[in-house]
Amino acid sequence: MIASRFVSLIALFILVGALPCSAAAPRFTTRRVDGRNYVTLREFGGFYGFGRKWSRNQQTILLKKKYLSLQLKMDSREAVLNRDHQEIRLHLNFAPMEQDGEIMISELDVIKTLDPVLRPWSVAEFKVRTVLIDAGHGGFDRGTLGVTPGVMEKTYSLDTAKRLERFLKLAGYHTLMTRREDEYISLEDRAEQANVSSADLLISIHFNSASPDRGPSGVETYCLTPAGAPSTGNLGDQISDYQSNPGNKRDASNMLLAYCVHQSIIQNLDVSDRGVKRARFVVIKETNKTSILVECGFLSNPSEQSRIRAPAHREKLARSICQGILKFISYVSPKKPAAGPLKLRDAS
Ligand SMILES: [Zn+2]
Repeated sequence: MIASRFVSLIALFILVGALPCSAAAPRFTTRRVDGRNYVTLREFGGFYGFGRKWSRNQQTILLKKKYLSLQLKMDSREAVLNRDHQEIRLHLNFAPMEQDGEIMISELDVIKTLDPVLRPWSVAEFKVRTVLIDAGHGGFDRGTLGVTPGVMEKTYSLDTAKRLERFLKLAGYHTLMTRREDEYISLEDRAEQANVSSADLLISIHFNSASPDRGPSGVETYCLTPAGAPSTGNLGDQISDYQSNPGNKRDASNMLLAYCVHQSIIQNLDVSDRGVKRARFVVIKETNKTSILVECGFLSNPSEQSRIRAPAHREKLARSICQGILKFISYVSPKKPAAGPLKLRDAS
């Protein structure tokens, strides 16, 4: 049983390793270490305009150019992107590593995590007309419970979703909702609604809990883990890590949407940045539309709970999510073809 599982793991791994990159993806010389492709930091820095030099302070690596820096940590999956003096935490699929004096980043992270945010204009264009908003939980599924009796995630996810709907409509977009009432809808049905509807994007709204720990607070934004990588917090080597899901068709736009929305929330609200993370949640895994799931704050943290309960905070949250979506749309909207040379008719 263990042996056959191991063989299929290897087979899947080879399959994933052989998958071609998308047309827009950059090409690097890769080195294979422990069955995984890596790109040297020199080549990475050269391609993305950081130059081939960086500063290193013990385990911390800093690549820098005007208005943009990227901080990596050796043997850590946490990275920090600083654009226009605003820091955003990103979670890598694999930690950078060093071999023969070369620092290297996994090719999967370069293509699937860093390229969409460093070259957002390279993400495949598509027209966004309709956004499906998914208010987490509902009905008997109350979601997480707050520290105050009676506070339920399903109430605040629906309220925030409705506020987001209003902002998106004001911006001129069509909207759909997976639920408008306090009703139960399965995760599979939510993903199916995205698949069969005219929705171009799926935005799932949730609130978080670390109960009984009241300490954690902040916002984290999830997009689907690429095939071949462990989700954030997992160490890897599970069969499911190597399987491709319907949502993986949209890896680049999923990442860019997560980054744009997360960045907008962190910029506009006084909340702590828990980062852009990876997960294989059913709702983002089973949809073939570009999708993210936003954990908008911790109901298990007393002061964050009281902020979340304030309508003005949820209004700001919804407006920030909308602004992030609009930023994303500005990157992926089909660009008008450049005007050809002006043709002048000879004067008769
Ligand atoms: Zn939830």
